[in-house]
Amino acid sequence: MKREELLRRIPRVDALCRESCLEGFPQRARTQGVRQVLGDLRQKLLSGERSTIPTPGQLARQARRLLLARRASGLRPVLNCTGVVLHTNLGRAPLSRAAVKAVVGAAGYCNLEYDLDSGRRGSRQDHVEELLCQLTGAQAALVVNNNAAAVLLAVSALSAGREVVVSRGELVEIGGAFRIPEVLQQGGAILREVGTTNRTRLSDYARAMNAQTGLLLKVHPSNYRVVGFTEEVPLRQLCQLGHGHGLPVVADLGSGLLLPACSTLAEEPRVADAVAAGVDAAAFSGDKLLGGPQAGILVGRREAIQRMREHPLARAVRLDKLNLAALEATLRIYLEPGRAVRELPVARMLLLPPEEVKRRATWLQNRLSGQNVHLEIHPTAGRVGGGALPTRMLDSWAVVLEPTHGEAQELEALLRRGRVPVIGRLQQGQLWLDLRTVPQGQLELLAQLVEGALAKLDQPD
Ligand SMILES: *Cc1c(COP(=O)(O)O)cnc(C)c1O
Repeated sequence: MKREELLRRIPRVDALCRESCLEGFPQRARTQGVRQVLGDLRQKLLSGERSTIPTPGQLARQARRLLLARRASGLRPVLNCTGVVLHTNLGRAPLSRAAVKAVVGAAGYCNLEYDLDSGRRGSRQDHVEELLCQLTGAQAALVVNNNAAAVLLAVSALSAGREVVVSRGELVEIGGAFRIPEVLQQGGAILREVGTTNRTRLSDYARAMNAQTGLLLKVHPSNYRVVGFTEEVPLRQLCQLGHGHGLPVVADLGSGLLLPACSTLAEEPRVADAVAAGVDAAAFSGDKLLGGPQAGILVGRREAIQRMREHPLARAVRLDKLNLAALEATLRIYLEPGRAVRELPVARMLLLPPEEVKRRATWLQNRLSGQNVHLEIHPTAGRVGGGALPTRMLDSWAVVLEPTHGEAQELEALLRRGRVPVIGRLQQGQLWLDLRTVPQGQLELLAQLVEGALAKLDQPD
């Protein structure tokens, strides 16, 4: 058939819009989707890539897929089958039930900055300050939008215009443009680096101190490790040195570890230890090992915290009511011994024994047997993620899928673009689903999603 004749036979937009499979979409969306499908078709006919015209039903179904995909974009829940517990791209820490309930409760009007006893204006900090002091032993506390903001605020309030002494082994980049030298610059401070990449001694700090010094800063190298011939100064010694010269000492801890001591987390600095060492302020995230919402938490001595509270930046980086509600509920869980490891999803996933992950993997393998897929379970290594314990592997188990029709890559894409997206890992032509990060209560949903994707692999259109 001649090209002109083909182009004449392209169905009309309004006719396709009336196809039954497009019912339920708003008129404007329908028209737009159909126009796009027909535009693509015209291009393909003109370029010679196609020489036939699909049926109106097929074209309408193409438009429907387009509209569904568009409707599905936006923020929504996914299943994390990567085995990375604090996956920054997947929203870091999933909240506990208590925290979710608190978020819903604070969504309307709430006593955010209103003191119900006196009927006067209150401070949003009041809801969490006492809890934080109780949990860490600090005199005072301040919460802001995230830990990057907490460090920036600490530097701005305590050392603007003056020198900040930092070890060369701790000039960290966290990712997302958080680099200690640049944060100091943003805070109006002057970086005074001391020591070497692998070794920094107390005498290095002592020699660097002068009339311009404003602050001693210790940064936890969250996402990397220097191993071998290394030396660093314990926080307690640094505090003694700083306070001996009348200078404040701040520690950026990265993750806020409040969980009870255990071997999995042994290398991470604990907030209470930093406070006991005498820091003026310790800064940490709410959504890393703490297992709460995005937040930056500062705990320490009354005077230093007060200076930060009064700094103009504090208002610019303040925490919103939803995160505050989630943070308060999360901190309350820590008040009762034993509750955190039972109720915080992050703690549960981190401490889940490998045998339990294997049991889940075996369940899923059995549940999916008989489908058009080759299934095995394999030991694998998960990670803590979120820039914590970078060298620590979490012994885990994965269900490994190899479709009998089609490629693992296609299966991965179908699952990722599904009703509830499933995020796994492609490895040597197989799809690996690590079950450490899939809660028991979501296994059946995962099985259904995999079944659905396998069915689509069989009948692509
Ligand atoms: C993660 C991290 C930050 C940034 O924390 P956010 O809460 O993501 O802003 C800053 N410093 C260190 C050492 C970190 O590990």
